[in-house]
Amino acid sequence: MSNLFIQNTTVVSSLFPHKIRFHTDVLIEDSKITSIGKLKTPPENSLCIDGSNKLLMPGLINAHTHFYSAFARGYSNIPAVHCFHDVLKSLWWKLDRELTEEACYYSALIGCIEAIKAGTTTLVDHHAAPHAFGLNQVSKAVQETHLRACLCYEVSDRDGPEIAQRGIQENDFFLSRLQDNPSDTLKGLFGLHASFTLTDETLKTVSSLVDKHQTGIHIHLAEDQLDQDHAERNYRLRATHRLENAGLLNSKALLAHGVHLNQFERQLINKHACFLVHNPQSNMNNAVGAANLHAWHREGLSFGLGTDAMTYNMLEELRVAIWLQKLRGGDPSLGFVPATQALFQGNPKLAERIWGLPLGRIAEKGPADVILYNYQPYTDLSEENILGHIVFGVSQADVHSTIVNGKLLMHDGKLLGLDESEIYKHAKLLADELWKKMES
Ligand SMILES: [Zn+2]
Repeated sequence: MSNLFIQNTTVVSSLFPHKIRFHTDVLIEDSKITSIGKLKTPPENSLCIDGSNKLLMPGLINAHTHFYSAFARGYSNIPAVHCFHDVLKSLWWKLDRELTEEACYYSALIGCIEAIKAGTTTLVDHHAAPHAFGLNQVSKAVQETHLRACLCYEVSDRDGPEIAQRGIQENDFFLSRLQDNPSDTLKGLFGLHASFTLTDETLKTVSSLVDKHQTGIHIHLAEDQLDQDHAERNYRLRATHRLENAGLLNSKALLAHGVHLNQFERQLINKHACFLVHNPQSNMNNAVGAANLHAWHREGLSFGLGTDAMTYNMLEELRVAIWLQKLRGGDPSLGFVPATQALFQGNPKLAERIWGLPLGRIAEKGPADVILYNYQPYTDLSEENILGHIVFGVSQADVHSTIVNGKLLMHDGKLLGLDESEIYKHAKLLADELWKKMES
């Protein structure tokens, strides 16, 4: 692997606390950052990148997404939907059941390409394909594109007990494979869809496997009020208590959404040190409500930011997270603190839990997950106002380079080692087939 030398750039080492260094050189050797400072000459055998008029930051982290959703783009033959359940039935459950193994692979390739272009270097994905499964295909795409990803398969009883059992096996095989062949970049959790499509029996089986693999679950929790109504109607419990009763809440559990959680549930989540993920664009698109990020922040919950596949651009999601809190509370002073903290402090904390590495910061001896933005500020830039520049300026700038684990994946806006045009061409053929099957 050749070394990378980024010369004379503005380095944002960390955003919590804010730390910037101007006119700085960064040397990357193999998978690590080995020097941050002023080097007189670039070391031999290194690829030199001119860092002037650029901002170097830690690679962005997406705490919840779905590669499998790629082929929904532009699909419009959806009957009128009036609630969240309609959206699932009319689009997502129609799409996921027609996915083939090849479509799982191409969906993931497309997602990885979009992530590299957006400077997102680490992703926590939640996969569904109840007739193909295909977690191996998703992991193949992730490994070929060299991103960091944590994968799982969403177990659900909605397609019957046999498919639920196959979903359980898919996670079990995948986690066993990772134990036998550990990877620096690829990790796994145990995937579950949501309380309202899972029986107690399935939860019990999953609980014993979570213990066996010493892992955590990745589940949608209280995304819509229907998750709570279902748990209360059928089990006389809130959805979070159901998961606790099944022994599924632990410090590795990742709970996506949490829009409809009461205070007792949030206390339970805090007690078990679970991680909550806010997905504002998806919540707005499905009209399920707006999580109260200020309560999460005040109560000391561990939480981060995901996109639920609405975008791979984390700074776009960050902006929406801020605007949504302002709108929710009718107060323009809201949003900025908990949303920026979710992305720049919460997501690195989650990544550290999963990868055991100090991701989400730029430090000597740390992992070289680094992005460069083309960004020449025309107003003063300092540690005091860096977050303002990120939200209002950098978010509108182009990513120049993306580096993961010391490997340069995009340089000067061009992907390296991936034939984007061929991948998109073949993906289009698969999408045409998939749409036809969705119509029949
Ligand atoms: Zn989701």
